[in-house]
Amino acid sequence: MWNVLKDIWFLFGRLFPYPTRPGLRRIGDPDRSSPVLVTGNFELTVRTVIETLERDGIDAWLLIAPSKGVNVWCAAGGGHFTTDSVVSIIKTTGVEKLVDHRRVILPQLSANGVNYWAVKERTGWKPRFGPAHIKDFAAYIRSGKQITEREHRHVSFDLPERLAMGTNLGFNVSLILALPLIIASFWVAGLWWKTIPILFMLSVLSTVLVFWLPGKIGVQKGLALGVLTAATYALVAQTALDVPPWSLVGWSAWILAVSAFVGYDMPSWSPLWRQDAKELILGVRTTHVAIIPERCINCHLCDIVCPVDVFAHNPETKKYEVANLDACEACGACIENCPTEAIVNNFREGVCACPTCLAIDGVSKLAGKSRKSRQPEPSSCTEGECGCD
Ligand code: SF4
Ligand code: SF4
Repeated sequence: MWNVLKDIWFLFGRLFPYPTRPGLRRIGDPDRSSPVLVTGNFELTVRTVIETLERDGIDAWLLIAPSKGVNVWCAAGGGHFTTDSVVSIIKTTGVEKLVDHRRVILPQLSANGVNYWAVKERTGWKPRFGPAHIKDFAAYIRSGKQITEREHRHVSFDLPERLAMGTNLGFNVSLILALPLIIASFWVAGLWWKTIPILFMLSVLSTVLVFWLPGKIGVQKGLALGVLTAATYALVAQTALDVPPWSLVGWSAWILAVSAFVGYDMPSWSPLWRQDAKELILGVRTTHVAIIPERCINCHLCDIVCPVDVFAHNPETKKYEVANLDACEACGACIENCPTEAIVNNFREGVCACPTCLAIDGVSKLAGKSRKSRQPEPSSCTEGECGCD
């Protein structure tokens, strides 16, 4: 019963932290040669990992590292699942007494917060970034971990993922805006209870339809969806409902504004869209990575950690190059893990500012702790080379 209630909550509220106990768990019947893998301590993630591994018949040692109860990708991006989290869980669980090897498999989507080289140096264990999704873990293990197939590293945001993302985004945005809308309803009668369903519906639709909506950046896609939705409303209101013209114009404009807001993705909480007003208004590219060829030592790590295949290997120069800049969604994984600071960028300025991270930040500050800045070391900025301003 409790699990059913939790599942209902996770349909809408998975952007909220839900921690489970960090530590070591046995999966199946592991022995001294079984793989050791790491995940974050978000309850839903841990349950999904355990259920998937058990279903696929994998015997393993699972290290549940502290991630403040947030899913791995968000936690790593927000500074809650870090190199320290991985190092501490390896050192404190006594896992080294249970296995003969010293290899640990990290979730690929933790690469925007976990530094491969630092984990290696500080633990003496050999880390390896595994597949992006746990469903591919069995295939990865059975392939001998020699490679992580490109499709296992690629995050494609398929329809069920987008539906889950949109539902949770809609729930979160509706909660945040509920109070201001209720207050505004003292001046515009019924504003809050009419707007919340619109907000929720547009959040779901915009995330589900993101690949088909015209426009390159979020706010353009939001406006396109807004025009479509407002036109549909106007058509229905004119033909089937007795709506006065001033009300029809007002609500159509409101739908357009709400849709643009949803598309704007203010805190950049969707990896599908970027925080992009600057790009739209000033024509300045807000997401730009570049590789300084002289610094590239051909270690492959940028290609391994990039979830959207931005990089390509040049067999002639034996270096990596940026091959598909438009796909970059500014996760920062390549920058975190490049050992020679060969990757320069113009977006990795600080910690995540989504409501979840801000709330965690507030609690941490009250407890006298603060998040580490994700500001890259000054030496990684080579003025002008990445085309930033
Ligand atoms: S750019 Fe950096 S991470 Fe990528 S292959 Fe070169 S050295 Fe390795
Ligand atoms: S190229 Fe962009 S999407 Fe790929 S790892 Fe780097 S920052 Fe992330």
